[in-house]
Amino acid sequence: MKRLPHFTAICLVLLFAVGCSSQSEAENGEESQNNGNSEQEANGDSYLPEITDDDRKPLLLIGIDGVKPSYLEEGFASTPNLDRLIDDGVVAESLKPVFPSLTFPNLYSIVTGLYPGSHGIVGNTVYDPSRGMTLNMRDQEAQTDPEWWGGEPIWVSAEQQGLTAATFFWVGSEAEIGGVKPTHYISYNSRVPHSARTDQVASWLTDDDPVDFASLYFASPDGAGHEHGAGAPEVVEALEAVDHQIGRLISQLENRGVWPDINILVVSDHGMTDLDEEKVIFLDDIIDLSDVDVVEWSPVAMINPKPGKVSDVYNALKEHEDEEHYSVYRREDLPERFHLSNHPRVADIVVIADKPYSLASQFFFSQQGLFSGGHGFDPEYPEMHGVFLAHGPDLPNGVEIETVELVDIYSLMAHLLNLEPAEHDGSLERIGTQIFAE
Ligand SMILES: [Zn+2]
Repeated sequence: MKRLPHFTAICLVLLFAVGCSSQSEAENGEESQNNGNSEQEANGDSYLPEITDDDRKPLLLIGIDGVKPSYLEEGFASTPNLDRLIDDGVVAESLKPVFPSLTFPNLYSIVTGLYPGSHGIVGNTVYDPSRGMTLNMRDQEAQTDPEWWGGEPIWVSAEQQGLTAATFFWVGSEAEIGGVKPTHYISYNSRVPHSARTDQVASWLTDDDPVDFASLYFASPDGAGHEHGAGAPEVVEALEAVDHQIGRLISQLENRGVWPDINILVVSDHGMTDLDEEKVIFLDDIIDLSDVDVVEWSPVAMINPKPGKVSDVYNALKEHEDEEHYSVYRREDLPERFHLSNHPRVADIVVIADKPYSLASQFFFSQQGLFSGGHGFDPEYPEMHGVFLAHGPDLPNGVEIETVELVDIYSLMAHLLNLEPAEHDGSLERIGTQIFAE
């Protein structure tokens, strides 16, 4: 199978992802008794567990890239450790990612509770017109430059309020955001064995002075899904390997006597769908690529036309919208549900392919072909959804809930850590009623 290196799918190769999954938003929120995102209001609701500074439990956030709910169904893979968390904890039907359903935007939305249009990581590659710079997520320097990272990640909230945080990989954790880094963090390196990650995290959680918050990230099975397709045997193998490591981690926590005291969230950044080499939209058949800079390609193309070319490029793309399988928008006209149109890092023109179409140029496709699997599409597609599991002393036992909104996770984490949350786009009330109001 050939691949197309400029495809956004590349996200996974080096970086992170977060889960997502899900169904309609209406299912989640419409029953709520409260009417806003007010944490104070939600904190007053008796369905939420009361957490004080004296009985706060450590929180472990585990991100597994590119896992969708069907991967956890019986018969797909042998995942006894994830099954254990599900049986004794909370599992959502799915986790609905933010748009675009790519790794970097979603991983960073998980820890900030902000949509990409608020935190500024609007893709895996981002062009900032005010700086005249492109942020390539595979670029280590970008990881440490605080200018790129908006909002307040949970580890910053924790450190600023007197807690200790540690990250064994999470996007944004290498930058000094708001002047703060996690007490312990590891610079991203995909070659670090999974066992070294779990061993270190177990150590952080069981030291004489244990951390209050830790993150752990696995880049697989996303890569296997891209390479071999969404349900391929290689995906099964990759997921089983991650499950094995989670089992090792649980054993270490059990052996040191702290397992009953730790709250764990397991999330993915997005799902995965099979792509089709017969379903490719060639942008150079529609526009002159010399008239534009294409920041990201597929399945969401971020296109900045050269000066004076915006209308020509937009009109050409619009003219072919009906016969091709995409939607085209000027930034300011993006649908409200994407929560993306206000950020200047969003390109002037955004082309969004219908699933399972890919956007490419003739040259790159002839040279590289396509990945077998991909993501990045509209979060309304269930295949783009990830997973959400929660387990621990402050969480209910054996509860199945409907689709969780990815932006709500930050508020849940802040509550479990008894932190005053920063401004965010999620709703503690929405996720809290889902989990605790049964
Ligand atoms: Zn990916």
